[in-house]
Amino acid sequence: MTSLLKPPFRADVVGSYLRPDYLTEARAKFARGEINQEALTEIENKAITDLVHKQKAAGLHVITDGEFRRSWWHLDFMWGLNGVEKASLKEGYKFQGIESRPETARLTGKISGKNHPFIEHFRFLLQFADNNVIPRITIPAPAQFFKELYRPENKAVTESIYPSQTDLIEDIAKAYQTFIAEVYALGCRNLQLDDCTWGMMVDSKYNNAGVAEQKSQCNCNCSSNTTVITQSVEDLAEIFVQMNNAAIEGAPEDLILTTHVCRGNYRSTWAASGGYQPVAAYLFGRENVHAYYLEFDSERAGDFSPLAEVSGDKQVVLGLISSKTSELEDKQTIINRIKEASQYLPLSRLCLSTQCGFASTEEGNELTEEQQWAKIALVTEVAKEVWGTV
Ligand SMILES: [Zn+2]
Repeated sequence: MTSLLKPPFRADVVGSYLRPDYLTEARAKFARGEINQEALTEIENKAITDLVHKQKAAGLHVITDGEFRRSWWHLDFMWGLNGVEKASLKEGYKFQGIESRPETARLTGKISGKNHPFIEHFRFLLQFADNNVIPRITIPAPAQFFKELYRPENKAVTESIYPSQTDLIEDIAKAYQTFIAEVYALGCRNLQLDDCTWGMMVDSKYNNAGVAEQKSQCNCNCSSNTTVITQSVEDLAEIFVQMNNAAIEGAPEDLILTTHVCRGNYRSTWAASGGYQPVAAYLFGRENVHAYYLEFDSERAGDFSPLAEVSGDKQVVLGLISSKTSELEDKQTIINRIKEASQYLPLSRLCLSTQCGFASTEEGNELTEEQQWAKIALVTEVAKEVWGTV
């Protein structure tokens, strides 16, 4: 069935949720070969069913599968594309004080998006749609995939399969178009592109998708897992906005396309700092999405003034409540910050959410499930007070 509800909602979320312990245990057993895929799927189905009931009980109008069948918010989608394999690296992504598991997506051939396993995942979620909730699928943005293929240890393989960057970008766009058409045909009406590329670009440490190849230019870790793609932020922003737009070009009008931007989220840590200004004209002015889910829960995300660049009638979901910390925010402080943001974009075009998912990777952030739901309850409470609705 198709819902008439239109995201974003005054009280919203980004998409991933903390995994229950029994799911974590089942995934570990599966990895050790102690249970088969069928047994794992059954446990995932139960965990997702429980999660959906909790989302509905929390009063949310959007449901997701919590990304419970994934290990990563982004790599699992890339691995599901044709022409892509799961591979290991010497180093993981660098976060503040921590390094992620060293996994990546690497090309094995030309890319295509047919028969992606996420289609079946979404089919399971769809059964829970009703007049009060719309199911959302979250996938990494095309730019995020492109950037993954240019990590130093992937670059040579990528360039051997795609000597022409133009051909690579064209195939990425086509693969996304294929996936989007298939998931839409199934009944999806809200697709979200999660995109850290913008959040990394605003940090001078990474601002042209990395400052150097390998560790050639400095001794710190800042550049060790990035590759220079262009020499300027503007050139890179131009490539990324065109690529993301090409991938969603021709999408049906009643498919609500949203995007989430943050500066990294891994076990409660982050990767980058900086306000949105350097990329605002590209991301807010030209990306053809209906709404932006933006990190704004700390000083690292800068002030609200770049919101003045949000074009047309696009909406902004303010990620003012942290999904990284266990401490519950002060309600009045959040209300005051929404008012502050409304100096740049009218209240009617603003919404509220948690700043990111609660578990961008299966490890999850450092808070309890109880604290996670308390954060969401605060989102709905504030939304009711500010807009009179969720
Ligand atoms: Zn995020």
